[in-house]
Amino acid sequence: MSENAVFPGDKLASIEEYEAGYNTFDDGDMVRAATVGEQNLDKETRTVSIKHPKMLSIPKVGDIIIGTVAAVMSSMIAVSIDYINGKPTTSKVECVCSTRNMRIRNVALVNDIVTLKIINHLNGTIHAVIDEPHLGVLYTKCRKCGGKVVTMRDAIKCIECSWIDERKLSTNFGNMDFINLSD
Ligand SMILES: [Zn+2]
Repeated sequence: MSENAVFPGDKLASIEEYEAGYNTFDDGDMVRAATVGEQNLDKETRTVSIKHPKMLSIPKVGDIIIGTVAAVMSSMIAVSIDYINGKPTTSKVECVCSTRNMRIRNVALVNDIVTLKIINHLNGTIHAVIDEPHLGVLYTKCRKCGGKVVTMRDAIKCIECSWIDERKLSTNFGNMDFINLSD
């Protein structure tokens, strides 16, 4: 790849200068890359988009994905997709999920494993939701010490340092058999 190579989550331009085109998303401040690829700043249309070197496995509306949280922003999380409907994918497409209206302290942390449902594709960005019982965090760690956590009613508690925290947990939380989830 050339010097224009970008990775998911990379800042491409300020939203005041450029609009989000294909394979990018706007986090309210910056246009960021949703996939790996080569960035293309179009000065005429003032859009920034990413050309991907190969065909991607793009999830469809209604698909259930499992992925790794790549970035946590004030009102959304960006998730790198590892499985689509239980099938592994290596193309590392990202989706974004709004967390704006959730009354949970830490919906998910970077590197948590989450399951989401795809709701739409808008301007080349894949949008997902987390607010259904089987959706949410499948695997997380203690925010303070990185220790193992167990569920305690609606909260989680670290077995190392006893820190109590919140996540949007999936009803499948703790089920490490990620690939064979049943709804
Ligand atoms: Zn801890």
